[in-house]
Amino acid sequence: MGSLLFVGHTLGSAQAPRPHAVMAAAMVDPASLRPASVDPASVNPAANNPASQAMPRVGPEAKPGVAQALPNLPPALPGGGPVQVAGPAPGARLAPGQGPFGSVVGTGANNVALTFDDGPEPTWTPQVLEVLRDAGIRATFCLIGENVVRFPELVRAIVADGHTLCNHTWNHNLTLGDLSKDAIRDDMARANAAIGAAAPGVPVSYFRAPGGNWTAGIVDVAGELDMTSLDWTVDPQDWNRPPTASIIATITKSCQPGAIILLHDGGGDRSNTVEALRSFLPDLIRTATFVSLPAGAG
Ligand SMILES: [Zn+2]
Repeated sequence: MGSLLFVGHTLGSAQAPRPHAVMAAAMVDPASLRPASVDPASVNPAANNPASQAMPRVGPEAKPGVAQALPNLPPALPGGGPVQVAGPAPGARLAPGQGPFGSVVGTGANNVALTFDDGPEPTWTPQVLEVLRDAGIRATFCLIGENVVRFPELVRAIVADGHTLCNHTWNHNLTLGDLSKDAIRDDMARANAAIGAAAPGVPVSYFRAPGGNWTAGIVDVAGELDMTSLDWTVDPQDWNRPPTASIIATITKSCQPGAIILLHDGGGDRSNTVEALRSFLPDLIRTATFVSLPAGAG
């Protein structure tokens, strides 16, 4: 594993719905889950981020026959290794990318970003934080407002460890995009207010749509609230509790320069996710540089 290189390996799985809906069982009729209706490769190609342009979606979200080549990827990381930083990565937040409706699908550099959705959650978030701390890396946490209100101390723990925050709606509404823009704005603002109450002054520079169910309205309103819409590159579907080995295999085979990796620290039993992290991070940090996404100004 120590010789793991970034290679253009894609998993040729069939197009799958994007349930990513760990909260859905209790809150939403699964029949209402919508598959991705938009081909990311066909939407908003006016990305201004070279790495994002070069970054195919990898994992179960990948469309067969689309973006299987890896043109113009940055070279393999020289040295790699963990990043020792005191806070979120410096610099301006990521610009709109080549994901659905201009959402970001890559870090825009050689760096790799781990993102954790659906927390904070008192059992799993601290374990994820511990693993990241042991590895000496920073990540990005996409928080659900209702969880933030219940566990504000966990938000502060995330911030104290230097991770970047992302808004993941008030209550993980998978059909947020069906609402009016005013209602979308209210939802996002409510979650931001909760995060702001838990961790005053900490920027929330990103928004991630539950289930990746992006719409133009969601991306527009997120922009109005000064948040960049954050999609992902690699999805091991850990929300569905696949075997730990499956999570590890998807990530180690797909962890290319610029990748944004989707994982979960909330929404259910995340023991397999934590176990996978403990397994793959010690190896991957020798070849990949993991970063929190730049949060920009507060
Ligand atoms: Zn989610």
